[in-house]
Amino acid sequence: MEEQNIQTDILIIGGGTAGLTASIYAERAGRKAIVLEAQACGGQIVNTERIDNYPGLPGISGFDYSQKLQAQATELGADIRLERVRSLEREGCRWIGVTRRHRYEAKAVIIAAGAVNRHLGIARENELTGSGVSYCAVCDGSFFKGKDVAVSGGGNTALEDADYLSRICHKVYLIHRRDQFRGDAANVEKLQMCDNVEFVLNCNVTELLGSPRLTGVQVTDKVTGEKRTLEVSGLFVAIGQVPQNDAFADLVDLDEGGYIIAGEDCRTKAPGIFAAGDCRTKSVRQLATAASDGAVAALAADAYISSMR
Ligand code: NAP
Repeated sequence: MEEQNIQTDILIIGGGTAGLTASIYAERAGRKAIVLEAQACGGQIVNTERIDNYPGLPGISGFDYSQKLQAQATELGADIRLERVRSLEREGCRWIGVTRRHRYEAKAVIIAAGAVNRHLGIARENELTGSGVSYCAVCDGSFFKGKDVAVSGGGNTALEDADYLSRICHKVYLIHRRDQFRGDAANVEKLQMCDNVEFVLNCNVTELLGSPRLTGVQVTDKVTGEKRTLEVSGLFVAIGQVPQNDAFADLVDLDEGGYIIAGEDCRTKAPGIFAAGDCRTKSVRQLATAASDGAVAALAADAYISSMR
């Protein structure tokens, strides 16, 4: 029978790069760290085919990187558990993270809950998810080998997805709502060189066609209102992420996008609660900055615990 109340020094909510890095720094500082991850360790980077911008590990796959990071954290003593935190409450000078099975009593908490994929919010999107609509090119791209597909989005994820799919699929339409890309110029230039990638700019995806599977998408030009049907069997939605901070909204301040307001020191307005990685307000959301946040938050939590004595 598992115990219901578990005590730890630092409770880390989220097992992505920020959370796992925090656990490494916490353990090395002599603090007992428990990492609670709601789904699978690694976070969003697990779905990245190849990481080329993380210092010292050029070309590593997102999966391999995540496995190494998790192994490193575990070897240092971090206790990683697959449990979703339902609520976080103050009890005296401790924070209590409540999951379905346990109450985790911690001296400090690091929220590193990351973010989930944003949906287009158009009709039949949920119905066709898994039947032509996907949010992960690396996971699902091979199902569309030799076929025509579309990618929606203008950030680095969409650009990288389009590049990845251009090597598997017959044709890739890259649909973006503006004529300027948010992603890196180098990624845009690479796609401009691809014969089988067509840019569909200033357009929104306005309708999903086909039943029971996707057979096409209708796009509408934002300027002219003109509609066009693209016959595709796959639509990869890559329009950014939405943070998952609702469970903490009463404890910390959130900005209008739902991100936890915290500076580079990762401190929130709540004593003993720190925010690290993609879930906090920041200008650059990268693997390197998530790792940086993990280190900063863990050392800040360590100092906070020392100050409790
Ligand atoms: P992002 O940078 O936030 O870009 C989201 C894109 O989707 C934007 O172009 C945005 O258009 C568009 N968009 C948002 N809502 C939309 C809607 N409702 N309908 C249509 N289009 C919509 O997200 P991301 O590409 O997932 O990247 C997230 C972060 O991870 C970024 O910092 C990115 O640089 C980073 N990243 C890095 C790498 C790498 O370094 N290897 C790889 C992937 C991602 P607007 O531009 O008009 O706002």
